[in-house]
Order: sequence, then structure tokens, then C-alpha cells
Amino acid sequence: MVHFVGAGPGAKDLITIRGKKFIEDADMIIYAGSLINPELLEEAKPGCILYDSAKMTLEEVAEKLVWGHGQGMEIVRLHTGDASLYGAVREQMDILEEKKIPYDSCPGVSSFCGAASSLNLEYTLPEVSQSLVITRMAGRTPVPQKESIESFAAHQASMAVFLSAGMLGELTKRLLAGGYKENTPAAIVYKATWEDEIKITCSLGELEEKAKERGIKKTALILVGDVIAHTSYQRSKLYHPEFSTEFRKGK
Ligand code: SAH
Repeated sequence: MVHFVGAGPGAKDLITIRGKKFIEDADMIIYAGSLINPELLEEAKPGCILYDSAKMTLEEVAEKLVWGHGQGMEIVRLHTGDASLYGAVREQMDILEEKKIPYDSCPGVSSFCGAASSLNLEYTLPEVSQSLVITRMAGRTPVPQKESIESFAAHQASMAVFLSAGMLGELTKRLLAGGYKENTPAAIVYKATWEDEIKITCSLGELEEKAKERGIKKTALILVGDVIAHTSYQRSKLYHPEFSTEFRKGK
């Protein structure tokens, strides 16, 4: 059996209990070496075979998965954060389906959650924003035209931009063209939840310069939106004394 496991954003203890158990029981782990905390691999049992997928092609990963399954191994495919976001897991799953190899998925704490915890941030403040846009700038992987940064910026919702810390000039230009203002609150969180995490809150206009000052070009999330400054939100209805819920009667 192959288990796709989300390793969490970085800190070793931010993997799920289930994910940790899969690691402990694995005979083979193929891990995304560029972003996985190596300390997580210390949980593997002696003799567990480790492969770093950063150095492998899809075909090479598939070959190991197929071989390991043939040997009757329990296999963990360890992805950073949660594998459902920019994890390139579907293509692996399709190969396993074709080969009739069983697999399942174990969720992880995505880096956008890790970054929010680092900033004590609520992405969905009442009457500020009730939506979070998760997106990226086009890189080697193109982004469909209908999902342009400008079109999302037009909503003025909270935004978490992945895979784009090396393109901050262009990103800022496009966020401004879409309708955010120079003084829209923004943040850069580099290596959220790792020991060498850097978190910077600033305005959209300052993003590029602040990242440059700290030499941040990768492994960072860019957050944009008024929720980051959290100055003018309304308290929640859910916990308001006058509001009745299924569990509590309002006064
Ligand atoms: N599946 C992952 C995302 C993988 S794409 C997840 O759920 O988080 C890789 C991108 O994720 C990086 O370029 C960066 O934008 C972001 N990222 C991953 N780990 C991060 C961390 N600890 N801190 C900030 N950004 C991170």
C-alpha cells in the first residue's frame, strides 16, 4: 500500500498523528527533500529505504513505488504541507491506478495554515473578508488565464500566494493592477514554523523591498489583505450574546 502523507509546514511536531504512524511503519519513504524537515525521517524504522524525490523524475518515483509494492512494502510518499496543494500527486495516483496498486491520502497542515499561526492571523474576519484565495504566479507550471492575479485581486479578499517569492516585483504590479492599494496590508512568511522562520508584515507597496532586505527568494508565502492589519472588523455573530444558535439561546 502507498500512503500519500502531508508532512506539515516544517516543524517536526506539526505532522498528524496518523502521518507519523505511517512514517514509523514504512518500509520505504520517498520524501520531497527540498522542503521536508529531515528530522521527520528519524521516526522511520531501521532498514527503511529512503529516497529524495527532489532528485528524481516522476518515472523514477513510479518505478520505486511499483518495485516496493511488488516487494510487499508499506510505502510513504511524503509531501510538504498538505499534498493537495501544488503537490503533483494526481499524476502519481494515476500511475498507481493504472498498475492497480492501492493507495490512500493522509492530510497535512498546509503552509498557509502554518503562516497564519505564525502571525496569529484569522483569514476570515467578519465584514473584512470571508474568503481566502490560494493561488500562485505562473512559473514553469502555467496558470490558466481565467485565474489571473489581477482577477483575484479584484475581489479584495484575503490572498495566500504560493511559489512566487522570487517574483515579487511582478506580483505586486499585478495585485495593484487588479485593485489592491499600495497600502493594503501584506506579509511575507519565510519557512513558517521552522526554526529559522522569518515573518514580515508590511504594506503591499513595500513587499519587494522587505523581501530583498532579508534575502528571501523562495520557501515563502505572500499574504495580502486587510485581515493582516485586523483594524476594523465586526465581532462574530456566533458568540454574540443576542444571537441564538443550535447550542445556546440568545438574550
Ligand atoms: N503542499 C505545500 C505547498 C507546496 S508548493 C503546502 O501545502 O504548503 C511549495 C511552496 O509552498 C513554496 O514555494 C512556498 O510558497 C510554500 N511553502 C511551503 N512550505 C512553506 C513554509 N514552511 N513557509 C512558507 N511557505 C512555504
